[in-house]
Amino acid sequence: MVPRTMARKVSPTTLSSQGPTGGQPPGSGAIKRFRARTHIAYFSMELAVRSEMHTYCGGLGLLAGDTARACADLEVPVVFVTLLNRKGYFRQEIDRNGRQRERTDDWDVGKWCEPLPTETAVEIRGRPVHIRPWLHLVEGAGGFEIPLIFLDTDLPTNPKFERTLTDFLYGGNASYRLEQEIVLGRGGLRTLRALGFHIGTYHMNEGHASLLTLDLLDEARSLRLERPRPERESGLAEVRRRCVFTTHTPVKAGHDQFDYALVRRLMPSGTDLAALHRWGGRRRLNMTRLGLNLSKYVNGVSRRHAETTRKMFPGYRIHAITNGVHVPTWTHPEFARLYDSKLAGWRMEPELLIRALQLSAEEVWDCHRIGKRELLDRIRESSGLGLDPDVLTIVFARRMTPYKRPWLVFEDTARLTDLASRHPFQLVIAGKAHPRDPVGKGIIRRIHDWIRTLDGQVPCVFLPNYDMDWAKALVAGADVWLQTPRPPLEASGTSGMKAALNGGLNLSILDGWWVEGCIEGVTGWSIDHFEGRGSDQRDAAALYRRLEGEVLPCFYQETDRWRSMMKQSIAHVGSRFNTHRMLRQYAAEAYLP
Ligand SMILES: *Cc1c(COP(=O)(O)O)cnc(C)c1O
Repeated sequence: MVPRTMARKVSPTTLSSQGPTGGQPPGSGAIKRFRARTHIAYFSMELAVRSEMHTYCGGLGLLAGDTARACADLEVPVVFVTLLNRKGYFRQEIDRNGRQRERTDDWDVGKWCEPLPTETAVEIRGRPVHIRPWLHLVEGAGGFEIPLIFLDTDLPTNPKFERTLTDFLYGGNASYRLEQEIVLGRGGLRTLRALGFHIGTYHMNEGHASLLTLDLLDEARSLRLERPRPERESGLAEVRRRCVFTTHTPVKAGHDQFDYALVRRLMPSGTDLAALHRWGGRRRLNMTRLGLNLSKYVNGVSRRHAETTRKMFPGYRIHAITNGVHVPTWTHPEFARLYDSKLAGWRMEPELLIRALQLSAEEVWDCHRIGKRELLDRIRESSGLGLDPDVLTIVFARRMTPYKRPWLVFEDTARLTDLASRHPFQLVIAGKAHPRDPVGKGIIRRIHDWIRTLDGQVPCVFLPNYDMDWAKALVAGADVWLQTPRPPLEASGTSGMKAALNGGLNLSILDGWWVEGCIEGVTGWSIDHFEGRGSDQRDAAALYRRLEGEVLPCFYQETDRWRSMMKQSIAHVGSRFNTHRMLRQYAAEAYLP
C-alpha cells in the first residue's frame, strides 16, 4: 500500500472531478486549483519524490523532497520546480574489480507525471529552447496536495542537442550545466507565469536556479515598482524582497561558477550582463553569490554551516535553519505502529517524539530487530552475504566523495581485525561516486580491496546503487550510523537523523547537524577530530578508541544502557531534526516577513 504521505500519480479522472475544468485539457484544470492559493515557489536542481522517479542524486534532492512532503502535511501552499531528468543521475554497478560502472537510469515519466498543456521557451545560443512542464502531486497526511513541476525540453520542436538538456542530472560539461540552469531558473519562472501562478516568494535551494533573479529584475523594472533610481539599482529592492536563498556548500570550489565568455555565448544579447557582473561576481559568474546578493533572507543548513558561510562571504547576514527529515517517510512501519499507539499525533507534530523516553525498552528493541532483520535479508538476497542479526551492524552510506572520508574506518585494517576478534561487528557500505570523479571511484575500488583483505575476519559488504529505497532499509537496520567527514565540510547531513528515528545510534565526527544533535553517550557518540597533517590517521585512531572503549562494550555488555540510548536518540533527534520544525521556521522567519 502506498502511504498517504507519499506522492501519487495524477489521475485524469480525479482531476476532472476537481472543479470546473470545462472543456480544457485535464492538465490545465489540474493546475488551476493550485493557482490562487500558491504564493511560494521552491526551485531545486534535484527533487527526491520517490525511488521510482530518478530525479535526485543526494542530500540536496532528499531535502527538497522531504520539504515538499512537510508542505503537504502542514498545508503550506508551495509549488516546486525542478528539471525532469529523464535519464536520472546514473545507475551504479560494480564490476569484479570494484570498479564503478554507470548506466543511464531512465524512469517511467508517463507513469508518475501528467504533461501540462503549456509551452514556454528560453533563448540559448540565439535560438528558442522550448520547455514543457509535467505535473506530479504530493499528498499530505490530511489530503492536502502540493504540485511539483518538472521541466522537459525533449520536444519535437527543439533541435537534437537541446532535446537532451533535461536528461541527465549533473551530467555533461560546464556548458550543459549552464544551459540546464537557464532552463531551470529562467524557464522555470516563465513556466510558472504561463501556468497562471502569482508568486510572492521564490525560494532557491542552492544556486542552480539563481538566474531567475535576472528575469525578476527585468519584471520589476518594467513594472516600475519603485521610484526611479540609478539603472544599476533599480528593481533591486523589489527582487530582494521576494527571494530566499539556502546555501548548502561550505567550499568555494563547490559553488557553480561560469566563465563570462560562456555566459555571453549562451545567453541572449539583451541579457543584463552588468547586473550579473555586479551581483554574481566580477571575474566569473558565481551562482551562490548571485543568490546571496539578490535575496532578503539567506541561510545555511546548520549552525556550524552558517558560521562557515559567514567566513566565506563576510558582510552578509547569514541565518541558520538546521535541516530535518520528513519523519513519517523515514520511520519503519514497525516503529510507526509503536508511535501511533503510544505517541499519538507524532506524524504531524514530531516534537511529541520527545515522549519516546517513556516507551518500553523491549518494544523499541523489538521494532528495531525487525528493521534489522529485513535489512539483513535484503543484503543476503542482493549480495549473497549472510550477516548475523545478533552482531553489531555499522552502516556507512553516503556519496563517495573525499570530504566524507569513506576510507577512514579502513585506515588501519590490522586494528580493525584485532577489535573484531574481541567484539564482533559487521560493516555495511553504500554510495555512488560522481561519474567524472576519479578520486571517488578510486575510493570505491579501495573499499573493495579492503573488503577482500578483511574477509573471514570482519564481515563487510558494499551495496551497489544507493538510492531512497536502500536508504530506507539501511536507516531502519543500522545499529550504528557512522559519519566521518572532514570538518567543516559536512554542511548538515540528514541520513543520521533518519537512523535515529529507528533506534539507530550515531557515531560521528562533530560537524554539520551532529554538532547540535550529539549529546555525548546519550544520543550517540562523537569522534575526536584533529587538524593538520596526519589527521586521517589520528581521526581513525579516535574512531577505533570510541568503538573499543564505548560502542562495542555498551552493545554487548550494557544492554540496558544501549536500549535507553535508543530511546534518547529517538526522543532528542526525532523531536528536533525534522522537516516539520524546519518548515515552520522557514515559514515564520523567511517566507512571512
Ligand atoms: C538522506 C539521504 C541522503 C543524504 O544523506 P547524508 O547524510 O547527506 O549523506 C543521500 N542519499 C540518500 C539516498 C538519502 O536517503
